[in-house]
Amino acid sequence: MIAIGIESSADKLGVGIMTDTGEILANERITYTPPFGQGIHPREASESHAKNLPRLIQTALAKSQLTKDQIDLVAFTQGQGMGPCLRIGAVAARTLSISWRKPLVGVNHQVAHIEIGRQIGDIQDPVVLYVSGGNTQVIAYSEKRYRVFGETLDIPIGNGLDTFGRECGIDAEKIPMGLKIEQLAAQSTNYIPLPYIVKGMDVSFSGISTAAIKKFKEGAKIEDVCYSLQETAFAMLVEVVERALSHTHKEEILACGGVASNARLKEMLKAMADEHNAKFVGLPAATAIDNGAMIAWTGILNYKHDLSTPLDKSQVDQHWRIEDCEVPWKEK
Ligand code: AMP
Ligand code: MG
Repeated sequence: MIAIGIESSADKLGVGIMTDTGEILANERITYTPPFGQGIHPREASESHAKNLPRLIQTALAKSQLTKDQIDLVAFTQGQGMGPCLRIGAVAARTLSISWRKPLVGVNHQVAHIEIGRQIGDIQDPVVLYVSGGNTQVIAYSEKRYRVFGETLDIPIGNGLDTFGRECGIDAEKIPMGLKIEQLAAQSTNYIPLPYIVKGMDVSFSGISTAAIKKFKEGAKIEDVCYSLQETAFAMLVEVVERALSHTHKEEILACGGVASNARLKEMLKAMADEHNAKFVGLPAATAIDNGAMIAWTGILNYKHDLSTPLDKSQVDQHWRIEDCEVPWKEK
């Protein structure tokens, strides 16, 4: 079985093609970049997605060397995400499903991040750290569902990094802001204390981001502030993941989402995993960052467990929480 998956929940537009044996045949992505100094505007991102999606589908098909007749199902991100962006992917997926006469499967974005990680990392039952532009959550499977064990009390870490970078005038037009911060941080070992906010299993990034901006505006070197921001924010995340690992008695850790492509975060998680004799899996950027392959793959899992999506149930759900998803393949 072969699935095409469309991801359009935020600023990334992805089209992936995967087989049911786990082979990625194509995984194309275009990132919408807002004007310099601005955050993502959902409507403008959605207009960019609408313009690029037909071409991206063609490119993915060409990469896979398949024709539309060889595709068995059409999967798309049904939630959570930004409404206008999600709707572009949903409209395209419905159109393909109808015109190609293939079943349609709406996929939960977070479940997809985890499932592609389990597949690529060859792991079964991890504690998951999902850190992206729009999410910061510690998730693990328990009693038939993926459940959120800890999350941010305010802004997601990626959002905190991006806001910090923008406010400090860091130029990251060609690469993700988080990667630019990572590169600057690698040039320093001078730690400037910043607020460390962990409350039980939850974390907060709003205060630390503001404090880091203040340090820079007071004259601290940008490299030192980037280094200190990463060390503090990542230590907070590692603390919560470590506690989740101890509580759940699991033996694997998976990091996913765009921020999880950070080498320093992966290094810190790996060091903690080693102390607990746990296996740590980080993902390459192609599958850590929002992508179409993860949607195709999770579409296959859903379809094989009778969870396809009739047209009249295919409207997007911006707030679709991971705890509300059935994951019957995990029960085996
Ligand atoms: P996503 O929402 O999963 O597409 O991830 C996007 C977020 O990941 C943005 O906030 C980026 O700044 C962030 N990001 C991308 N690369 C890195 C990196 N190497 N280190 C930290 N954050 C990153
Ligand atoms: Mg994501």
